[in-house]
Amino acid sequence: MTPTSWEADFELDRRNSLRLPCRALWHAQVPDAAAVSNALACAKRLGMGVWVLGEGSNVVLPEVLEGLVLGLSDRRIDVLQDDGGRLRLRAGAGVHWDSLVRWCAQRGLWGVENLALIPGSVGAAPVQNIGAYGQELAATCRRVEAVDRVTGKVVQLEAGACGFGYRDSRFRREMQAWVVTAVDLELHRHGCAQVAYPGVAEILAEVRGVTEAGQASPLDMVESITALRRRKLPDPEVLPNAGSFFKNPVVTRARFESLQEQHCDVPGMVVDSGVKLSAAWLIERCGWRGLRRGSVGVAETHALVLVHHGGGVSTDLLKLARDIEASVRERFGVTLEQEPVELQSMGRL
Ligand SMILES: Cc1cc2nc3c(=O)[nH]c(=O)nc-3n(C[C@H](O)[C@H](O)[C@H](O)COP(=O)(O)OP(=O)(O)OC[C@H]3O[C@@H](n4cnc5c(N)ncnc54)[C@H](O)[C@@H]3O)c2cc1C
Repeated sequence: MTPTSWEADFELDRRNSLRLPCRALWHAQVPDAAAVSNALACAKRLGMGVWVLGEGSNVVLPEVLEGLVLGLSDRRIDVLQDDGGRLRLRAGAGVHWDSLVRWCAQRGLWGVENLALIPGSVGAAPVQNIGAYGQELAATCRRVEAVDRVTGKVVQLEAGACGFGYRDSRFRREMQAWVVTAVDLELHRHGCAQVAYPGVAEILAEVRGVTEAGQASPLDMVESITALRRRKLPDPEVLPNAGSFFKNPVVTRARFESLQEQHCDVPGMVVDSGVKLSAAWLIERCGWRGLRRGSVGVAETHALVLVHHGGGVSTDLLKLARDIEASVRERFGVTLEQEPVELQSMGRL
């Protein structure tokens, strides 16, 4: 492992998928948990705030971060156990998530295939319990290795202690407390494609010619989901964005019924905690889809995706987000919750 080196006045413009301009006072690329502890102790001695940045696909960066930004570079994937049916692996926080998904699919392993092409790093995956097309990280995650930012100690948190929820976890709720350094997953050799999510069965048939879920391989699913995502979501390399900018709000059944009385076509999905609404539908109904406001706007193809056309800063984007929230609240009485993290407010111990 290479020793940690700090770089001053570090540009992060190309290290966030919104391509917002940002400079960090200091940046350090850390290879492992011990180096994370050392960097945290050093920053503490210097009285500096510390932020962790993965691939920057779920953050809104300010123009300046007056402290230390840590990047994690452990890109190892190790098999811990393999009994022929189940395989347990450990992936370092610096592994690119989609590379891990492909690594699994190429070995015929089930468990993360519907999470193909989600941008970002393995270290960030448990933070918001990434999910898509009916699958979530929580279903395969068995353990998370993390550094406790207060004590500097390395801890192993079993899945039950990670507090996973819908786009949520203990790591997101206690952002100042943890640096994730590795994730253990359990995958299966015998599985069946999950095709219940709208559009998935159709794309599987179109892209791979597979019409029975039982006939599909993990690789069939990865290629199909990849094609579906490429069709639906703007590529941040072409039009900078952070994916869904708001979570889908969950309301009580009574609240949903009263919404239905006023808006008979409001879509809703029954979940354990109530009814999950479509944030995209709410935003679209308020007339935001495709709207451009100077350097920022809402994608033409997807009302949930806020985009940066170039030349803007975080405050431009956040002002647009607040106005969208206000119009949804005014029209539907529903509060939207932002998904990408505003890093500025998070760093200090
Ligand atoms: C086009 C597009 C599509 C997307 N689609 C989806 C989707 O379908 N489903 C979904 O769930 N998400 C989606 N996202 C959001 C994003 O891909 C995920 O949230 C991803 O896990 C972020 O990874 P990252 O490495 O880029 O994290 P970053 O953006 O760098 O960081 C996100 C947050 O996690 C923290 N963090 C990062 N690494 C660590 C670590 N090692 N330890 C502790 N905290 C850490 C950061 O401080 C920050 O608060 C999408 C984003 C884009 C741009």
